[in-house]
Amino acid sequence: MKFNAFENKIWLSSPTMHGEEIKYVNEAYETNWMSTVGENINEVERLAAEKTGCKYAVALSCGTGALHLAVKLAGVKESDRVFCTDMTFAATVNPILYEKAVPIFIDTEYDTWNMDPAALRKAFEMYPDTKVIVVANLYGTPAKFDELCAIAEEHGAVIIEDAAESLGATYKGRQTGTFGTYNAISFNGNKIITGSSGGMLLTDDKEAANKARKWSTQSRENAPWYQHEEVGYNYRMSNVIAGVVRGQFPHLEEHIAQKKAIYERYKEGFKNLPVSMNPYQAEISEPNFWLSCMLIDENAMCKQVRSDSDTCYISEHGKSCPSEILETLAKYNAEGRPIWKPMHLQPMYRSNPFVTREGNGRGRTNAYIEGKGIDVGMDIFSRGLCLPSDNKMTAEEQNKIIDIVCSCFE
Ligand SMILES: *Cc1c(COP(=O)(O)O)cnc(C)c1O
Repeated sequence: MKFNAFENKIWLSSPTMHGEEIKYVNEAYETNWMSTVGENINEVERLAAEKTGCKYAVALSCGTGALHLAVKLAGVKESDRVFCTDMTFAATVNPILYEKAVPIFIDTEYDTWNMDPAALRKAFEMYPDTKVIVVANLYGTPAKFDELCAIAEEHGAVIIEDAAESLGATYKGRQTGTFGTYNAISFNGNKIITGSSGGMLLTDDKEAANKARKWSTQSRENAPWYQHEEVGYNYRMSNVIAGVVRGQFPHLEEHIAQKKAIYERYKEGFKNLPVSMNPYQAEISEPNFWLSCMLIDENAMCKQVRSDSDTCYISEHGKSCPSEILETLAKYNAEGRPIWKPMHLQPMYRSNPFVTREGNGRGRTNAYIEGKGIDVGMDIFSRGLCLPSDNKMTAEEQNKIIDIVCSCFE
């Protein structure tokens, strides 16, 4: 080994606590609001609405629950087609399946690594009656909302924004989590701020917010007894979790500044390598820089093969690949991660449509095929990776990560 391994593991992204969290958790305990009702819940809903500029926030047990209620609010029914971001965490898509609807995966663009408006346009040509689009902001970078919202409006479709990774990011000055009719954020343990778990539905529609609140607490009707007219869920946030979230909220901007500094330091450190950082539209958007990622230039990729469960590569002078870098980081006790493997490449979605800007993106074995154009998600998955992005990582530790990555190209 060229370097000493890190004594303490460098995490991809771990919770960063500040002290106020335990105060609010204690308050819940001392006042015995150890329940899904209480001051912490009211306060985090107020804070989230205030921060994002969305009128209503409904605190839930997780972001996935928020997406599920969003899918229901959008009126998605069994067998309906739903356009969905392809290169994302599985939680973006799962709620579509909870409602027995059919996700149609829309390919990615290279400018922000989010849903490609050109591919979405193509998808509407192929499936014109689709009424719902689920758009995620990958790794904290806002999608191309001007284009996506315009296309949605043209077709009378509703946008659900999955802003689980992008809380605090802005597009043209407007916070993410406000571009959909229904929006989801997450307080999962590795997100920009956390409650250890938790999530929220954000919307400007008062009636929708009230419905979500009712559904999330087992759909009790207004009656002197337990009266039920529709199916319910146990999705409400706990007042204890809300205490943690409440203590984290004042530190959101500080976390973003730390994450941005990490991104900038990587960018500078890699300036002589044949790689680029995960991109964003610098003129119009400001990500929250949740995870720093890198993409290896095509001509600097050594041979790398990935099966459904394994990978192998052949080291080459002056070149590298994500598998080699991830393996090397792990060897030194640092945690990187592959890019989210696109949903259209997942065995469980084998028979779901996948649309690129050229049209049907199925039936290919390579990212680029003459006449079929490019499968951008497949390409970014094969050449990209997430770097250790923990906001407690010191500059010194990060410099060493940079040296380790550089050594992979030697
Ligand atoms: C974390 C995440 C979710 C789910 O949030 P949970 O709170 O963990 O349920 C959804 N979508 C994306 C893109 C995420 O990264």
